Amino acid sequence: MQWIDIGVNLTHDSFGPDREAVIARARAAGVAQMIATGTDLASSAAAAALARAHPGVLFATAGVHPHHASQLHASDLPALRALLQQPEIVAGGECGLDYHRNYSPRAAQLQAFEWQLQLSADCGKPLFLHQRAAHEDFIAVLRSQRHRWSGVAHCFTGDAGELEQYLELGLSIGITGWFNDERRGSHLTALVARVPESRLLLETDAPYLLPRDLAPKPASRRNEPMYLPHIGAAVARARGESVESCAAHTSAHARALFGLESQAPV
Ligand SMILES: [Zn+2]
Repeated sequence: MQWIDIGVNLTHDSFGPDREAVIARARAAGVAQMIATGTDLASSAAAAALARAHPGVLFATAGVHPHHASQLHASDLPALRALLQQPEIVAGGECGLDYHRNYSPRAAQLQAFEWQLQLSADCGKPLFLHQRAAHEDFIAVLRSQRHRWSGVAHCFTGDAGELEQYLELGLSIGITGWFNDERRGSHLTALVARVPESRLLLETDAPYLLPRDLAPKPASRRNEPMYLPHIGAAVARARGESVESCAAHTSAHARALFGLESQAPV
């Protein structure tokens, strides 16, 4: 059985001391391939370098998270385009809108999002999308360029209406360990069964979002990609399918959407 973690923040400082061990533990747990998330220019370049060091196993995204949108200037776009043209970069993002915290002003978020939609489409890369408390603007921006993109709504935590709109737009749905939190993720149990096999993806978003029902919990509270099968098992249960089937179709879809090589080197 093989799993693919489509969103892990492997360049995060908390992985500094033991990054290679984290990757090895994930692979030993059946996570055959991982996509390292880039959240600004520096972390995107670092994620690309990490991917180059683990060919066929690690891939990366290149983009600027809405939190950092005000740091993206027109003069940075050639550098972002150059990153997006690298073969180990399999998606544009993490990009999108986050009005929950508004770390960057909304106007800057919208500008950065539109630039990245354009660049990703120009470079033929799907999108790794983040949205929080900004659903209406997010959908409006995507609709305005609908013919140009494909991608995943990462860490989906929305309601039935949002799910329907995302599916209707052609987006895939990324499920994280948020799903395993009975306090705030329980509404997702019914929704995840409505996502077609051809649109469902799994991610840990590590080091964030440690699955709440993990036992025993690591003392560090740090999430790791090796816990992806734990999320997958819960998702399979909610969908009424076998764990094997869930691993197979989520991996096949990740490989198709992001163009990952079909077999990880042993
Ligand atoms: Zn995110």
